[in-house]
Amino acid sequence: MFAKIPERYMHLVRWGLTLGWLVLIASMFYDPISAKLTEPNYLFGASDANACFEFQGECRQLTPYPLGARIFWGMVVPLSIITLLVFGHEAWRRICPLSFMSQIPRALGWQRKRLVKENSWLHRNHSSLQMGLLFLGLNIRLLFVNSDRVLLGIFLLLTILSAITIGFLYGGKTWCNYFCPMAPVQKIYSEPSGLLGSVAHTAPPMSITQSMCRTVDKNGQEKSACVACKSPCMDIDAQNSYWNNIQQSDRKLLYYGYLGLVIGFYLYFWLYSGNWRFLSGGVWNETNHLATLLSPGFYTNGRAIPIPKLFAVPLTLTFCSGTTYAIGLWIEKTYQRYNKRFKHPLPVVQVYHRLFVIFTFAAFNLLFFLGVRPTLGWLPPVVQQLLSWGAVLASSLWLFKNWQRSAEQYAKERDGQLLRRQLNKLAIDFSQFLEGRSLENLNPDELHALAKVLPGFTHQYRLQVYAGVLKEALEQRSASPARSLKMFQSLRQELGINDQEHWQVLDKLCLEHPNVFTSHLQQVSEEEATVRRSFSQGMVETELTQQRPFAEMTISKLSKAIGLTQDSKSEADSTVKRPKRSQKGKRNF
Ligand code: SF4
Repeated sequence: MFAKIPERYMHLVRWGLTLGWLVLIASMFYDPISAKLTEPNYLFGASDANACFEFQGECRQLTPYPLGARIFWGMVVPLSIITLLVFGHEAWRRICPLSFMSQIPRALGWQRKRLVKENSWLHRNHSSLQMGLLFLGLNIRLLFVNSDRVLLGIFLLLTILSAITIGFLYGGKTWCNYFCPMAPVQKIYSEPSGLLGSVAHTAPPMSITQSMCRTVDKNGQEKSACVACKSPCMDIDAQNSYWNNIQQSDRKLLYYGYLGLVIGFYLYFWLYSGNWRFLSGGVWNETNHLATLLSPGFYTNGRAIPIPKLFAVPLTLTFCSGTTYAIGLWIEKTYQRYNKRFKHPLPVVQVYHRLFVIFTFAAFNLLFFLGVRPTLGWLPPVVQQLLSWGAVLASSLWLFKNWQRSAEQYAKERDGQLLRRQLNKLAIDFSQFLEGRSLENLNPDELHALAKVLPGFTHQYRLQVYAGVLKEALEQRSASPARSLKMFQSLRQELGINDQEHWQVLDKLCLEHPNVFTSHLQQVSEEEATVRRSFSQGMVETELTQQRPFAEMTISKLSKAIGLTQDSKSEADSTVKRPKRSQKGKRNF
């Protein structure tokens, strides 16, 4: 839905939100106005001048306070999460002020062209790094910046500075893809798709999909500004990114652990204050965080437990996220046993997927009812009810939509669309086989079946169709040369094309259309990643050597074709040749 809104409007929205956010940050340091609204009988104030909030057995006086921290934590952050679930990342990533500010160096022409390589530590571990930063951020919030406005202002300015620095050092949206602590939250709520998210894998060729980086040229036309900083990229096709990474071990930590973080975070307000009303009343009044760091961090059954808050917070978050992670693993195993016993085994990917969407559904509703609902007391009761039912409805529809998705279905739809366009290019009259229907009327299953049984559909035709599919997927960056072997495995089986022919097709494409490979070459170490993955999966020597000529040839031809610099070429060459060293010691893998 948001993918279709013209970039010039979104640019204005980004400016508006960014200026609004900067004003909010400024208000953390100086705000002579908003405290008035928290005085008794005002919108955000208590209804009684003598009202107090309960904290560790005491009744403390409610005093007026400036609203900056409450607006940021109690309104901006929950709204961004609801936006992610309902409209998907394609909305959020196009309006996020932090992402916008990370692009300041690019707008000023100062951005370096450097990209994170596929075999680098950062690429392999960025999900864990971002999850770690999210964990750290939640600790910082509870310990230092939840209601201390000056510290919160400094914290936000440092975050902006970090985003700009990364935007200066690296190309593309490296901050968003590799560092931003909100990225795990974006993945959880908007993958495989937000409730109203658009579909990228069946879009026409060369479309600017979802939140893909784009720019407006002199004629007012939108064009891609992609520099290939991430592959597969969530901004181009969130479903592609989701199904590609679903089996990575860090995904379990992400989905199962995140639920515990949500529970632990809101539970801590109760463990700390000794009552559930602290979040709706006194939490914004407790402004001097530094003074409470060594005071008791737990208060239960009318007794303070002498564990300093400094340790109590990480202890609670670690315990809760560890517990939900263990529960997630246990349910996963139980579910797989159940599947086997009833002779209806779901593919393992589908088991993960179903658990991930259930955990996301639970996390969203817990976040809303533990964290957001108690802070809505300033709204009329009917609006509170409407918002609560709206949250349940939106998350239920989200669950229903995503529960039915599968990796097979996604691949079938994607390949079907690619196949349809390639079949259309052949000099074959399809109407005689389709009883009056056209290729446009066929669903993905029928297209796959047609490609298999078409009379007179020679092997040469099949190779031609396969080459077209591959070229389009590479152009669209939904596939990379390295991942294409695995990605189109089932399509090859249907077309009767073997792996060796795949490499030959790829090599031919490389000779005839070198520009298609330009963006992929920027992450040239993908070639190494292919060989490493295949090798670790027990690939035999002959298969390995079949791949190497392609890679070496690719690099040398492309270097000429696209004018690769000497530095990049040496890097590319050494990267591709590295498997020779690895061959000596298979144990390295
Ligand atoms: S891969 Fe392209 S579209 Fe995706 S974030 Fe990077 S530059 Fe933007």
